[in-house]
Amino acid sequence: MPDDARKPADLLIAPRWLVPVEPAGQVLENHAVVVSAGRIVAVLPRAEAERQFAPAATLERPGHVLLPGLVNAHVHAAMTLLRGLADDLPLADWLGRHIWPAEHRWAGPEFVRDGTRLALLEMIRGGITCFNDMYYFPDVVADLAVEHQVRAVAGMIVIEQPTPWAATTAEYFSRGLAVHDQYRHHPLVSTAFAPHAPYSVSDPTLQHLRTLADELDVPVHMHVHETRREVEDSLRQHGERPLARLDRLGLLSAGFMAVHMTALEAADIDLVAERRVPVVHCPASNLKLASGLCPVAALAARGVSLALGTDGAASNNQLDLLGEARLAALLAKTVSGDASALPAAQALTMATLGGARALGLAEEIGSIVAGKWADLTCVDLSGPATEPVHDVVSQLVYTAPRDQVSDVWVAGRAVLADGEFTTIDAGEALERARAWPVRLGQA
Ligand SMILES: [Zn+2]
Repeated sequence: MPDDARKPADLLIAPRWLVPVEPAGQVLENHAVVVSAGRIVAVLPRAEAERQFAPAATLERPGHVLLPGLVNAHVHAAMTLLRGLADDLPLADWLGRHIWPAEHRWAGPEFVRDGTRLALLEMIRGGITCFNDMYYFPDVVADLAVEHQVRAVAGMIVIEQPTPWAATTAEYFSRGLAVHDQYRHHPLVSTAFAPHAPYSVSDPTLQHLRTLADELDVPVHMHVHETRREVEDSLRQHGERPLARLDRLGLLSAGFMAVHMTALEAADIDLVAERRVPVVHCPASNLKLASGLCPVAALAARGVSLALGTDGAASNNQLDLLGEARLAALLAKTVSGDASALPAAQALTMATLGGARALGLAEEIGSIVAGKWADLTCVDLSGPATEPVHDVVSQLVYTAPRDQVSDVWVAGRAVLADGEFTTIDAGEALERARAWPVRLGQA
């Protein structure tokens, strides 16, 4: 084919290794990804890609692996400003006596703007291209995602207590739905209902929410079975386990993301498997708050779709999804008593395609497949911590620290280029974050 017959393209990325995640288990060498108009247009052997395409730019990454952008399926981004505020406490004390009072006093638009921007810096630096957020002022979160070119699912939060975001249940719905209307059909931002937890939202409100979610065809994202105490309280108050109650209210479906899912009995696992409920595992948060353990291997054995979340930086305290994948793989082995449980490739799938599936975005992101958005992460595997490379996927999950992420693209646009932020003024964002401990009275 003569040169002038080559198809134009924006970018050709040539990494040493390419892990597309779909098909599962595949590792490609000397392949290239061709990007145009924000989308992946081809995944080909490099020589073939160069025969077919005339890219405006070519990026060589000779010691690197290219993977789909990481999907953080559960986070409270603005809570980065509360990182380290009240550590080493049980969940009820931590939430009721420290986090909620601080939020009720401070969690206004400025707090959410400064905290979310800090979270975006941390998430981009760690290779996260999409995050599913549950917090107040989702309008601010969505605006920032667009401004800084990060894919977001803005949570229409519902919690039955007054906060700076909404005074009444009706106001939670009306303000959330305004965000949904504003971002409907947006290429970067979508929305999900985010009822906080079974213990903080009543039956009538959950029924109303389910009806709206069905009408608007948006997913629902909720903390469920975070602790054994939550299950015991529900048995006392409602005479049923939280999952059984949510099922009675018609919420459990493939469009319902159940976050945490500890203290599960066989009947709970049957229920989520039958209803095809995706489970979002947040291992570091569960460990730090002594919440309990999610039986990931048992869920996987039943065909339950699994995703990973960091949770908020007040209960983790890092927004490091590569770290969560490692922790999930290690923890699954101990919880199941089987060292072959949750192998590296499965943990990486949870961190990418699993998250995309849970969010209803698997047609658009989550794997390196022609036609999907070019949401991509490149990790440098050269250097003392990650050499030699026997198995690329093992190296990524068990070894690679997030600071070896070199480049990140969202919809084809670089947001991290050779370690440098391109869409956020990092100096200014960090300066603003540094002012908050004084305001929160914690200096
Ligand atoms: Zn959470």
